[in-house]
Amino acid sequence: MSGFVFSEKPITIESGEGPYLRDENGTEYLDFGASYACTPLGHSHPAVTEAVREQAAELTYVQASYPVDVRTETYETLATVAPDGLDNVWLCNSGTEANEAAMKFARSATGAEKIVATKRAFHGRTMGALALTWKKQYKAPFEPLAGGVEFVEYGDEAALAAAVDDDTAAVFLEPVQGEGGIHPAAVEYLAAAREVTAEAGAALVFDEIQTGVGRTGSLWACERAGVVPDVLTTAKGIANGLPMGATLVADWIAEDPGDHGSTFSGGPVVCAAANATLETVIEENLPAHAAEIGDYLRSELAAAADEHDLPVREVRGEGLMIGIEVKRGANRVLRDLAIEERVLALPAGRTVVRLLPPLTIDEEHADRFVDAFVEVLG
Ligand SMILES: *Cc1c(COP(=O)(O)O)cnc(C)c1O
Repeated sequence: MSGFVFSEKPITIESGEGPYLRDENGTEYLDFGASYACTPLGHSHPAVTEAVREQAAELTYVQASYPVDVRTETYETLATVAPDGLDNVWLCNSGTEANEAAMKFARSATGAEKIVATKRAFHGRTMGALALTWKKQYKAPFEPLAGGVEFVEYGDEAALAAAVDDDTAAVFLEPVQGEGGIHPAAVEYLAAAREVTAEAGAALVFDEIQTGVGRTGSLWACERAGVVPDVLTTAKGIANGLPMGATLVADWIAEDPGDHGSTFSGGPVVCAAANATLETVIEENLPAHAAEIGDYLRSELAAAADEHDLPVREVRGEGLMIGIEVKRGANRVLRDLAIEERVLALPAGRTVVRLLPPLTIDEEHADRFVDAFVEVLG
């Protein structure tokens, strides 16, 4: 028996520890996908497990209108570590929901309608966020989606300036496009986006659902550009695998967010997991570690591709958000890596092998991945 939406893989996973997953036969797999960046500390991290266990015994759930210390701590931690000024925190349960909230808050605060998004963007799959997602295949069967969305070329400053006007509520950008193939934005592009949105009175929204929580070598990817958006959305790795999304907003948007809500917002158990995750990421300096080990992994991959004359077009990315563009179908490479080498990774489009390993990996793990990659493609 299996679900009917996801196509399942031929490996049944029983347990996980650090960067490894174990199947029902006890076979270990090195997990360089981290289930789409959802486990930055690796699987079943003891600090998160303990926090969840304790909180579940104390109070599993209470509605969001009763303050509880564990949720207050999440608000405070996120407000403290957020880019300057984004200290108003909305909690929810997923990435797409964080973006839905951002769309609603931006429209409410600006009174404007248009939302500008970029080609190749991925912002989620609910009817609002899906309207900001580029790929036709994800959208066509479900139309009509939320209206008022205009797409521009990612990285084109002039196209963005031309699209943003007085009726623009928001511009949505991924600082590094993930699903679209791992494309980092130029620092100048993010700065230009800051300028045109400020001039038009539109909200600049950075979708850091995949890039956030240390993934790209800083806690938030926008830090690299020194650009602070009006809204930052995050999810995936924030509670090391428990479902949480967050929308962090500037005061001028928090003043008039409209009427919004979500029953499970800031549930105590997920907040406990998020607190333990953020504390560990920061205490162990994992963003800086991700920058260092990411540089190492990318340069080792490029060197191996060169030395062994592998069918690789490009290795790109930031920190531990890495895309390897291969001159063949990414899915076949991924299958061979899993079956022959017991190494797991992800696709990002047809020809890109995407790596989003736990931020805790070391050089030995990186070397093992590179060796496996050479075996499969050599
Ligand atoms: C995964 C992702 C989303 C959607 O998050 P869900 O939790 O799957 O709803 C949105 N934006 C980006 C950039 C993502 O990577």
